[in-house]
Amino acid sequence: MKVTCDVIKDLLPLYLEDLASEDSRKLIEGHIETCTNCKVELESMKEFKEIPMDTNIGPLKKIERKLLRDKVQTIVFTGLLVLAFAILGMAYITAPEYLPYSEDIMSIKGYEDGKVIITFREEVAGYDINRYGDSYSLTAWSSLWNKYIQKNDKRSIVLNPEGEEVKSIYYYTTDGEEDILIYGIDPNPGGGQRTLPRLVLGYYLILSILLTVLSGFFLSMFRKNERIRNILEKVFLLPLSYSISHVFIKGFTGVSYSAQRDLSGILLLIIPIYSLLIIGIRVYKRYRVNRKQKI
Ligand SMILES: [Zn+2]
Repeated sequence: MKVTCDVIKDLLPLYLEDLASEDSRKLIEGHIETCTNCKVELESMKEFKEIPMDTNIGPLKKIERKLLRDKVQTIVFTGLLVLAFAILGMAYITAPEYLPYSEDIMSIKGYEDGKVIITFREEVAGYDINRYGDSYSLTAWSSLWNKYIQKNDKRSIVLNPEGEEVKSIYYYTTDGEEDILIYGIDPNPGGGQRTLPRLVLGYYLILSILLTVLSGFFLSMFRKNERIRNILEKVFLLPLSYSISHVFIKGFTGVSYSAQRDLSGILLLIIPIYSLLIIGIRVYKRYRVNRKQKI
């Protein structure tokens, strides 16, 4: 029987898939050496086989990349959440619990050379001292950390290292009560002085809310210009993160007896909050694009 081109063409698919028997393979290769028609047919079949292979792998690779991206994003997202909760947790367990004055928490001693030494007992986690000329006011606090995790050592400080005059020392509480004279003489007896909390965090909060509104306004103005919008979005999220961070650390009050400590907590918490917002917006945008494509 003569091997016709038709027979070869019938066998070519098997040959391409490597499914042809040894005899068929030899037959095909022998024929192709002499027949350009079948050779061209084989080449075109090879090409045809390659094209769909490519387009099939493309979407798969895309899905693979998307899965990897989602995975990385989930890991980063979780890490940031954990960081935010860790900062909040630390802020909570080290938050000052102001102590009412008692001789059990501290003692004051004046020496002949004029130095005044204050000794804080173990219950005291931290203290704050303000100086107004020759008058001083101080307060002390405990914290959950100090109570249950690690007690402070008893420690002494020299109130006036340069030998400045110390006329009076007051102890102030954070409940609005009058300051208590705990050392020296009262410069104005019956004056009833009170140490007020600082309001600076309140001003910062108002400022950050104003900046949020202002940048939000610009954001809506330039929402049609994608490049400017992308930049403004990042600007907008900064004061917004500050405001959110403030509420987490301080609640809805701007009043603080330990403004510096609170401010460091707020600034620290901004980092994970800002990053979470950036990722959140990116995920939301992609979700919206995907939904549009499906429709
Ligand atoms: Zn042929």
